[in-house]
Amino acid sequence: MTQEEVLAVLSETGALLHGHFELRSGLHSPEFFQCANLLRYPRQAEKLCSELCKLLPEEIAKQADTVISPALGGILVGHEVARALDKKCIFAEKQDGKLVLRRFNILKGEPVIVAEDVVTRGGRVQETIDIVHALGGKVVAVLTLVDRSNGTVDFGIPHYSLLKMSPITWEPNECPHCARGSKAVHPGS
Ligand SMILES: [Zn+2]
Repeated sequence: MTQEEVLAVLSETGALLHGHFELRSGLHSPEFFQCANLLRYPRQAEKLCSELCKLLPEEIAKQADTVISPALGGILVGHEVARALDKKCIFAEKQDGKLVLRRFNILKGEPVIVAEDVVTRGGRVQETIDIVHALGGKVVAVLTLVDRSNGTVDFGIPHYSLLKMSPITWEPNECPHCARGSKAVHPGS
């Protein structure tokens, strides 16, 4: 799939919204990612996740035993990635504000792929990598559907992303949409 085809699926499913948004950071943007909207459509999610898996070199894919994702957003992506690669699928979840592995185990030396929907600064992916390494596992690759850092986030581990883009943002007082009198909306509220 080309980047245009990926963007088209994301737009059609409502995962990539166009308009005038206020981000959590307070900045304004003409676009917003709501990956959960893609995951509403299992066949489209399966299609994009299997495309994502094609980016993974075969020797890394062969090594891995397990796919792990940070809950909540990553779980369905991890599940589709694990299906495409025919691996086991587990997830880390929040407990007292921190990601932990509550119901699964990772063996010493177990080769693991980390999968996530969207990465911006990479905090949740890094937390998941740290969990795997703390248990003695080995993260062999990171797979993300959308890399909003445009390739600048660096985990020190091979990272493959279906779509790389840098977000367009403005300070509210420099926002061209605000200048035209439009009011920014908070997606998801
Ligand atoms: Zn604005």
